[in-house]
Amino acid sequence: MPEGGNPVLFRPDYYISHYSNLDLDRLKRRGIKLLLCDIDNTLVAWNDPDNNVRVKRFISKVKRAGLKVALVSNAMPKRASRFARDLGVEKVFCLSCKPLPRNLKKAMRFYHVKPEETALLGDQLMTDVLGANLAGVYSILTHPITESDKFDTQINRFFENRILDHYEKKGVFKRREFDD
Ligand SMILES: [Mg+2]
Repeated sequence: MPEGGNPVLFRPDYYISHYSNLDLDRLKRRGIKLLLCDIDNTLVAWNDPDNNVRVKRFISKVKRAGLKVALVSNAMPKRASRFARDLGVEKVFCLSCKPLPRNLKKAMRFYHVKPEETALLGDQLMTDVLGANLAGVYSILTHPITESDKFDTQINRFFENRILDHYEKKGVFKRREFDD
């Protein structure tokens, strides 16, 4: 944790080992209507050019549960849009510059939902969890799909590890102590 940083801003509300273990009833009980998903290392490996059947099944399950689902990614539009199209996700917000809450707000406006009716699922503290918490959205951290990261993520992971070390020392949050 950087000196003087707000520890709560980096703490996820819900921590899972894999997106397929997401408890949709838990979200519905909280009044969540919209699930925003990060793509890279949340649903697929960052260097994986294709979707897989498992992700499609997950998206269908979310929709069947009555939740709206959209993608919010810092990835380039071409990749993110193709990914959304293949999955049958109607809306993708790319170049999101998370943790800036801009695209999260845009998504909430599009679906006419409030922050307390929205959840963001992602694999990074510095972008996804911080972005969700800044926007007042329910933050869900998932263990990354692969251990490797692209270059900019490696920098984020450096700071993320320092925050996690701090949390563990303070007994706030523990790596791999999942809620699922
Ligand atoms: Mg990611």
